Amino acid sequence: MAVYKEIESAVIHAGIYGDKYTRAVNVPIYQTSTFEQTGIQENPQWEYARSGNPTRAALEALISDLEKGYKGFAFASGMAAIAAVLTLFKSGDTILVSNNVYGGTFRILDKVFKNFDLNYVLVDTSSVDNIKENITDKVKAVYIETPTNPLMNITDIKAVSELAKSYGLLTIVDNTFMTPYLQRPIELGADIVVHSATKYLGGHSDLVAGLAVVNTKELADRMYFIQNSVGAVLGPFDSFLLIRGIKTLAVRLDRHASNALKIAEYLENHKAVTKVYYPGLKSFDGYELNSRQARNGGGMISFLLSDNYDYRKFFKSLNLIALAESLGGVESLVCHPATMTHASIPADIRAKIGIHDNLIRLSVGIENVDDLLLDIDNAIKASAK
Ligand SMILES: *Cc1c(COP(=O)(O)O)cnc(C)c1O
Repeated sequence: MAVYKEIESAVIHAGIYGDKYTRAVNVPIYQTSTFEQTGIQENPQWEYARSGNPTRAALEALISDLEKGYKGFAFASGMAAIAAVLTLFKSGDTILVSNNVYGGTFRILDKVFKNFDLNYVLVDTSSVDNIKENITDKVKAVYIETPTNPLMNITDIKAVSELAKSYGLLTIVDNTFMTPYLQRPIELGADIVVHSATKYLGGHSDLVAGLAVVNTKELADRMYFIQNSVGAVLGPFDSFLLIRGIKTLAVRLDRHASNALKIAEYLENHKAVTKVYYPGLKSFDGYELNSRQARNGGGMISFLLSDNYDYRKFFKSLNLIALAESLGGVESLVCHPATMTHASIPADIRAKIGIHDNLIRLSVGIENVDDLLLDIDNAIKASAK
């Protein structure tokens, strides 16, 4: 076993076990659905690949180590991981949910789990009092995202976890935007962390995957039962790709964040920009709180382009940054929340929660920041009315 203390080493070494046949430095891709057993009732470690696969198990050990949890679970997508976590609850239960969670999370609660009488109440979780006011006998968990997408609202993970614990509720954190390199919710008191590993953990926009980490054996046993029973497991090849992606998580995120800070500062000082949402900017509302619970502001920025500029033209004029859904890859992407990620929200509600038509979201990649700044600068100039 490799000996290390810090997360920059853990991303490379955690979960990796010595392959006893070849001493391979990397975890092999065990592309098999079943395993030969030595005899009946001999309780083999590996029997059928939905129940367990050595490549997936290495990834699950890796994410559990990084999040400082008890056990990790790998799923076919972020939504499959979130669905599995929601299956821990029963009909009649209610979950308090951050009022601007990922659209897919809202959709599965509203259109799938509600049919089974698992209910949700949307709350502004940036205030602990708002959460407290909504706690009833039926409430069993608080589900948060911080920072939120696309307006980067920050929720106090420690305060929410303490409140939840005092009422016997579970705290679930979607840590997709930050990753365990920047923020570790379980260390702050949360019970369950979920990830769309499609984003920063994979990091190369080349796979779809989800992870969940729980903090106790009791939750681990229940999650394992659900993972094995429902069966949306991550395949061996994608497990390998994700292990490979996570090895560079620390160096990638350092660059994502330093590029993002430079771009956020540039935008903040530009006359064409009326507001910048970036948790790493000192002038940003959630800066203090985010700095307390996360290493830095991460790689996601949103901003409002002034009415003197045509936001449609801005998108058309970018020549390096691609217009696309998703985030967290090495390449920079731009998205228009009002017509893309948040299109399903009615226009009046969108305007009320601040997702205006001139809101632009950037997933800042790890290119040379001067190339990114030049592209943004050119696109702003070209979009002047
Ligand atoms: C993308 C995303 C998800 C869903 O993950 P998939 O891998 O697309 O299924 C969940 N939460 C957040 C914050 C996301 O960005």
